Amino acid sequence: CAKRDGRNTWHEYSAELSVSVIERLDLRSDLQQALDTHRLTLHYQPLLEGHSGRVVGVEALLRWMHPVRGPIPPAAFIGLAEQTGQIIPLTAWVLDQACRDIKLLKARNVGRFPVMVNISPVFFQRKDFVRDIKAVLEHHELTGDCLEVELTEGVLLEHTASTIKKLNELRALGVKASIDDFGTGYSSLSYLKSLPIEKVKIDQSFIKDVISDQHDAAITRAIISLAHHLDLTVIAEGVETEGQYWFLKRNLCDQFQGFLFARPIPLGDLLPWLQQREIAQALPGAQGESGD
Ligand code: C2E
Ligand code: MG
Ligand code: MG
Ligand code: MG
Repeated sequence: CAKRDGRNTWHEYSAELSVSVIERLDLRSDLQQALDTHRLTLHYQPLLEGHSGRVVGVEALLRWMHPVRGPIPPAAFIGLAEQTGQIIPLTAWVLDQACRDIKLLKARNVGRFPVMVNISPVFFQRKDFVRDIKAVLEHHELTGDCLEVELTEGVLLEHTASTIKKLNELRALGVKASIDDFGTGYSSLSYLKSLPIEKVKIDQSFIKDVISDQHDAAITRAIISLAHHLDLTVIAEGVETEGQYWFLKRNLCDQFQGFLFARPIPLGDLLPWLQQREIAQALPGAQGESGD
């Protein structure tokens, strides 16, 4: 965004910059402390299948409750953690916690779906990436189908040979990969056909105005169609209204995630939410269940 500011705003910009440097130094050490003192938590947002309404996954989303500043959204610290390298222990913690939590859901008999973890390019590009995934699964005695990874387009464009190798190794473990925020990268679409991935998540910026904006509607339809032609599952993120949902459903989007269905919630709330749903779906006349 520095480019957009133009030449005359340099003074403003540099003042902003120095404030943000101090803030970032603070945040950096605060984040380290949060990691050390377990001030981070995961919230989970369910993903629903279109035709059955079944829960087909939950996405793990990091939450940081700062003792002074209050909640800090991941968008405000993931980038920093990537720069400082803190993203490595951070992601290791997320993977471990996610595995603990899915195990607990399974123990309560409501965890028949994977937990989806966001993986930073910085974490993915390490040579130990697949080994780490394998290790955390083994540590918790879970099979690969309990975990999925969400990667961004950026990751898939770089280091193509080793990327394909890692994705194939993941697949061999049974861990599926999806492309998050699809449509926002600089990608040529050709990489989609050559990569061993299973899912694409349409970025929520396209969903937001999909009802009112013809271009967003066209892009969304095109992504769904492209994904299906390549045998990929397509997920819409950020579904907030019935109107968006019906548009997506009519255009054969497979899975849905958004505030319309559920917000990201702590595990303690997810458990009763899932149990409630199971009860509701078991009732006679419950919609859509295919009975498996
Ligand atoms: P994302 O992976 O694309 O996650 C979806 C984001 O959309 C989440 O924001 C979620 O709370 C939000 N969202 C879901 N449904 C709706 C909706 O209906 N309307 C609106 N307006 N928003 C919705 P959140 O939790 O703030 O996370 C933002 C981003 O931070 C994530 O985007 C992801 O890129 C990153 N992130 C979160 N947790 C992690 C993590 O553990 N590791 C890494 N590397 N990145 C993470
Ligand atoms: Mg995601
Ligand atoms: Mg996304
Ligand atoms: Mg996003």
